[in-house]
Amino acid sequence: MILETISVCPICSGESFNSVLVTRDYTVSQKEFTLQECENCKFLLTNPRPNQASIAQFYQSDKYISHTGGSRSLIDQVYLQARKITLHSKFKLIKKYKKVGTLLDYGCGTGQFLHHMQSRHWVVDGVEPSDNARNMAHQLTNQELYNQLSAISKKFDVITLWHVLEHVHNLNEKVLELKSHLNQDGIIFIAVPNYESADSKKYGTHWAGYDVPRHLWHFSKTSMIKLLSKHGLQLLNIEPMKLDSYYVSLLSEGYKYPKSIGLIKMMSAVISGITSNKSAALSGQYSSLIYILKQA
Ligand SMILES: [Zn+2]
Repeated sequence: MILETISVCPICSGESFNSVLVTRDYTVSQKEFTLQECENCKFLLTNPRPNQASIAQFYQSDKYISHTGGSRSLIDQVYLQARKITLHSKFKLIKKYKKVGTLLDYGCGTGQFLHHMQSRHWVVDGVEPSDNARNMAHQLTNQELYNQLSAISKKFDVITLWHVLEHVHNLNEKVLELKSHLNQDGIIFIAVPNYESADSKKYGTHWAGYDVPRHLWHFSKTSMIKLLSKHGLQLLNIEPMKLDSYYVSLLSEGYKYPKSIGLIKMMSAVISGITSNKSAALSGQYSSLIYILKQA
């Protein structure tokens, strides 16, 4: 593994960072990674981090379900059920902004979302760097998919990133590249974990939303809006992903209490999820947030 250190903040170009938390890769390598905060704008990042050439080894796990599509454990079953519900709520959310049209899912994984949108008469394209996941998505959608954005020359009515932007090495370049693929009246939906949520505060270093080193960036509302407005994207709305608090709590329970039995973990996660969503009803700090933007 080759580590690289970020010395310039991608949001404000600040050059001073403070280490604020040490957390662990609980799913693949069990290695520790440090989260640093930009002294100027408070942007939180995994620093140092594996470089682009060596990050792939951290996705090599049966547990990385969004790439394998497999399912065995109780937690995986819960994830798959939740995903069904989430697919439909994503469709309903998009429909509020665009009735139908062309859609690019950037980081489409095994293609379930593309498939759902196809069934709702959307014309879809997808980008997915993992060969395995992309092949599965191809089987499901019967659609030619791409391993990178630069292979696509057209523009889209809607671009979606469901828990993807936090995985992208070259943040500013990627936002600009995505924007260049958005129609003038297009809408972009970006979902990311929110470390300012109550479940993040509860689990701290065991919070599954940190998911180091795969998550390179950790967004707050402030940092996300700064990043996107810098590149000429205007915020229309922020929507919660209410199921994520339960799923993230369930994973976090497992990281914090590895010997705890499944049923106990489930019960604790339900309580934690309810508590997090309840507090977010007042603060707006849900476990995951969807940022909805248009060209400024
Ligand atoms: Zn900064």
